[in-house]
Amino acid sequence: MDFQAPEYVIKMNYLQNEMEVPDNKNIILTVDPQKDDYAISNILWVLNGARTYSKIKEKNKIDSLDADKRKEKIKSIREKFASNFVLDFSSREHLLENYLKNDNEEILDATTNALGGCRISVKCGEGILDFIYADFDEIYNKLKGKEYVVKYSDAEEKKNYDAFYNQYAHYCNTLHNYEDLFAASLYTYICPPVIGNDFKGKSSHEMVLDHYIKMLKYWQSFYLELIEFCYDENYYPEILGELCPHERYYLYCVMNQIPKTHILKQKYSFVDNKLSGDTMPFGLPLEEIDKRYEKKINIDKEFKKFAKEYEFRADVLQGLLRTPQFMHICYDFSTIEEALNIELMRMFELDLRFIKCQWCGKYFVRKTEKDARYCDRIHPGTNKTCKDIATLDNFKKNHQDDVATQIYHLYYKRYSARIQGSPKREKDFNKWKFESSAKKIECENGVITSYEYDNWNFDYFPNRQGTKFFKEKK
Ligand SMILES: [Zn+2]
Repeated sequence: MDFQAPEYVIKMNYLQNEMEVPDNKNIILTVDPQKDDYAISNILWVLNGARTYSKIKEKNKIDSLDADKRKEKIKSIREKFASNFVLDFSSREHLLENYLKNDNEEILDATTNALGGCRISVKCGEGILDFIYADFDEIYNKLKGKEYVVKYSDAEEKKNYDAFYNQYAHYCNTLHNYEDLFAASLYTYICPPVIGNDFKGKSSHEMVLDHYIKMLKYWQSFYLELIEFCYDENYYPEILGELCPHERYYLYCVMNQIPKTHILKQKYSFVDNKLSGDTMPFGLPLEEIDKRYEKKINIDKEFKKFAKEYEFRADVLQGLLRTPQFMHICYDFSTIEEALNIELMRMFELDLRFIKCQWCGKYFVRKTEKDARYCDRIHPGTNKTCKDIATLDNFKKNHQDDVATQIYHLYYKRYSARIQGSPKREKDFNKWKFESSAKKIECENGVITSYEYDNWNFDYFPNRQGTKFFKEKK
């Protein structure tokens, strides 16, 4: 891949996301909750106190009309993704209750990325497909030539929070300018790039955008090619047909001289706000959690002695002992490439299969043996899936078969009656029989219509008697 941009000109790994792989065929993505307005505000507050924070807020104040537009935008982006994936904002909202009064509008005001803090359940494989079939070009063409609007400016005071805040400001600017492009797929939206301020002026921003699109397309075609090689039943079946997908992947890596070992960043953490089950060490039933929080812990002599030994505040220790902690295991990812990679490795691990839809030609994840031919994609302008349309088409085809057979039988009866012991007529009849059978197959395959087949049979012998099939039908 020839896309190499220096850090801070374009940063590809800004959001620190997590991917969990539970004991089923789903993956659960948690989008970085810390790069949102409320979290950034808090950190700024801690670093520099209320005065600096309010100064920056004042400087970057968006008027209320913009704020309303922003809320609508967030809602529409959430709706778009909710139609393909299961979005869960409960833990984010729970977290925000501490800062805001859980007012829905206020929460939206404090939202930067529409999916920030969201837990997203994805059927394993669907994240990859969502990315490789995203149409970036359409949106890219609309964005080309548009002026890059800088709403958030750098912090003026050169203090230790500058780098931290400035990066966030650049992230906001990038998101506000190219949000529609990122929203074309889940992974582009939750791993958006950050374009730095080194790039000023329209043409240079366009250059960055151009590079970015090239990179997206590179990954799209790379993964499409990989899926064909590892999963397509019609791709060199004589050579690859016997192999498992992971063995085909191994072969692909060796033959293309790319690394076949992947080191993923698995993280083990101990947290009080993420449950991945209801038994320890991963979680507890909610009533058990409440019991733990209500537990009486007396700060007696023994307790004080223990705290003193570790030079730890007794009241803080008291709080810690009341708070149940759960083990949380996940993979860290910040880039599209990492997300795609973890998901593909999970596909191999679960031995899930991508199948090529016989109708639209796009890959889909096989659920059962039964649905192994057509996908569930809804065709634009209709509310029908490939499966629906294919079923309808098969019905039509079968019906067409019926009509062709009926036409054949009608003329068979008519022309066989004409032979009347004449060897020449019998020879002609046999010739017709042969040719008509061939035409019948053409008709069944839709090469000619049943009307054309009817006419062809009717015109075959001159001095005809009787009517055409379709006339008789009337
Ligand atoms: Zn399809």
